[in-house]
Amino acid sequence: EDTVARIAAGEVVERPASAVKELLENSLDADADSVDVTVEAGGTELIRVADDGYGMSEADLRTAVRQHTTSKIAGLEDLESGVATLGFRGEALHTIGSVSKLTIRSRPREADGAGTELVYEGGDVVSVEPTGCPAGTVVEVTDLFYNTPARRKFLKTTATEFAHVNRVVTRYALANPDVAVSLTHDGREVFATTGQGDLQAAVLSVYGREVASAMIPVEADGDELPVGPLESVSGLVSHPETNRSSREYLATYVNGRAVSADAVREGIMGAYGTQLGGDRYPFVVLFLDVPGEAVDVNVHPRKREVRFDDDDAVRRQVDAAVESALLEHGL
Ligand code: ADP
Ligand code: MG
Repeated sequence: EDTVARIAAGEVVERPASAVKELLENSLDADADSVDVTVEAGGTELIRVADDGYGMSEADLRTAVRQHTTSKIAGLEDLESGVATLGFRGEALHTIGSVSKLTIRSRPREADGAGTELVYEGGDVVSVEPTGCPAGTVVEVTDLFYNTPARRKFLKTTATEFAHVNRVVTRYALANPDVAVSLTHDGREVFATTGQGDLQAAVLSVYGREVASAMIPVEADGDELPVGPLESVSGLVSHPETNRSSREYLATYVNGRAVSADAVREGIMGAYGTQLGGDRYPFVVLFLDVPGEAVDVNVHPRKREVRFDDDDAVRRQVDAAVESALLEHGL
């Protein structure tokens, strides 16, 4: 791989959390019932994502690490439809592998016996060998940015890099309560969802009992919402007394994708009014459904920020949905 390709990869894989996001997305796309994410030193030394999804054959594996290859036809169709274009298609494994040492072990669900281990380093396939492994896929990324010292230098402290990883895994765990998602950092389990519960159960696993017991359901669609592009707003928001000084706990999703939007945040904060102290934010897990054409994803694709054609209407709709949930609880 030449330098230009490595630099391009560095722009796409900004930090360990970006790799974690792509790998976790692949596991969910592979129909996994459980996904275990393990990182060391904030993901700078090791990222391991293990799933029990449909797995890959040797031929699949060789194809998977090639540039611009995707097995996801539906994914390509999504390119037309708004929010789904976030991220990059058919490039994640190749790109991560060009700036790290990548080992993938996989076995298709239907195959019994051996799976395959593929080792990829700095963009080249180093070895492909049969190996004993359970059905599913384990991707291990070590020494991220070992060949892009400039990028490596921009990494923040272990604590900061881990905070980004935690945020990514948390967002996916909350959006997929039917998948058992766990996160382990430096040998310590940070959280594990059961994969058998609803959103409330996932919140309990991720944030703990105190936060879970403070959550209030939001559920508004159709006529219950003011006029605007949103078709429904649903999820959980915390009692105003359960708050934090960081926006970090505002987990918002548009058409199932974890994104943030000023209009949505302002709508939420508007609903709480003065009930939160200055610079305090509630815990929120909120899912918005909107026709793809009403969303503008070009604001900052990697940061996952979106804007709406009619931000004012979205703000009013979110405000109304959250406010009526709070009102029902006498708040
Ligand atoms: P994309 O996800 O956009 O297709 P990737 O580079 O992330 O591109 O992955 C390339 C291909 O590798 C996927 O299309 C999929 O076929 C396969 N793949 C990657 N990760 C997994 C996984 N965890 N389980 C099964 N197949 C996977
Ligand atoms: Mg992918």
